[in-house]
Amino acid sequence: MKIGVLKETKEFENRVALSPDVVKLLKKKEFEVLVQAVAGEASYFLDKDYTDAGAEVVSLENVFQADVILKVNILTLEEINQMKPGSACISYMYAYQHPDVIEALNKKNITSFSMDAVPRISRAQKMDALSSQANLAGYKAVLLGANHLGKIFPLMMTASGTITPAKVLIFGAGVAGLQAIATAKRLGAIVECTDVRPETKEQVESLGGRFLTVEGAEGVKVEGGYAKEVSAEFLEKQQQLIREKIKEADLVITTALVMGKKSPILVTEDMVKTMKTGSVIVDMAVESGGNCEISVKNETVVKYGVTLIGESNLPSLLPVNASQLYATNISTLLLHLANAQGFIFDPEEEIAKGVLITQDGQLVHAFTKSILK
Ligand code: NAD
Repeated sequence: MKIGVLKETKEFENRVALSPDVVKLLKKKEFEVLVQAVAGEASYFLDKDYTDAGAEVVSLENVFQADVILKVNILTLEEINQMKPGSACISYMYAYQHPDVIEALNKKNITSFSMDAVPRISRAQKMDALSSQANLAGYKAVLLGANHLGKIFPLMMTASGTITPAKVLIFGAGVAGLQAIATAKRLGAIVECTDVRPETKEQVESLGGRFLTVEGAEGVKVEGGYAKEVSAEFLEKQQQLIREKIKEADLVITTALVMGKKSPILVTEDMVKTMKTGSVIVDMAVESGGNCEISVKNETVVKYGVTLIGESNLPSLLPVNASQLYATNISTLLLHLANAQGFIFDPEEEIAKGVLITQDGQLVHAFTKSILK
């Protein structure tokens, strides 16, 4: 089986789907690997590193001789046009947001697998790119925020006076939020966090954070570990709590996502107006609409004296580690689905069923099907 690795074309993307180390591992398993020239450059992986690992470095056109194309971001229509009919691809797809791509994949009879649809089960942890990338993003969000603050995080007692610790307020204690808590604590801040899932209280506290409980949180529905949309009444209670806490915060990091939906607005424009001059908000949900009403995607702006950071691709700012981990995730999934002779998956097996989006010219994924109709 021939694997093809394309250079990412999306704006602000520095990652690449395979690292040289993972190429070596796939070569040992007798796969052939074609890597587009300079595909790894933005992750500091050179063409020579890939050839040393056993890959063939080829032109864009020649990558499409592969039986399976690996990417970080969803394939473009132009790329699909160049693929061999009946071949396959694996990447993040967010399929329900890209009906035109699904149609193009079906027309070409391409089998596609989506990295964002890997089931959140123990057996699939090594394939879970959402977690590996969110973990790095949570770390980077704290560093970015700290860089834009005019003050330090830890308590410092010096001959010239005592500096009180910075206060960090985090919304959402998923993978990114928990890493943000750990990172901010390591830097010496006082950290508070709120989440709609009450079971996160213990996790927040185990990292040294203070959990802010919203009254009524016990009634919030959770499905497969994900928060479902919450009631207007719950959101109002949460807003009251945020209004109180946000006035004291130096750094606010928002990570609240709702699977398949626009992110909830947790920080309104009026709340930003009440924040301390010089404080910072990092809106990690900006790609799916944002948790802050006035953050701007891919921009850092100052409004009402508050710096609003709307970086939409935080893992890409740590491309070495992000590509290393993503390469492990995508190759583990590939090895679950295929061997050097070809694909061997059972479409009814839980992981294959979760990630399989199109096959034999048909849209097969139940969740995506229900949204795309
Ligand atoms: P996510 O990125 O979907 O959401 C981030 C956090 O925002 C979640 O904790 C969510 O509850 C919270 N949130 C949503 N709406 C909110 C609101 N209005 N206010 C405050 N917070 C809000 O989450 P994730 O990091 O992808 O993790 C989702 C779940 O999957 C978690 O339960 C996690 O433990 C679980 N998980 C399981 C595995 C596994 O078993 N292999 C791997 C990774 C994650």
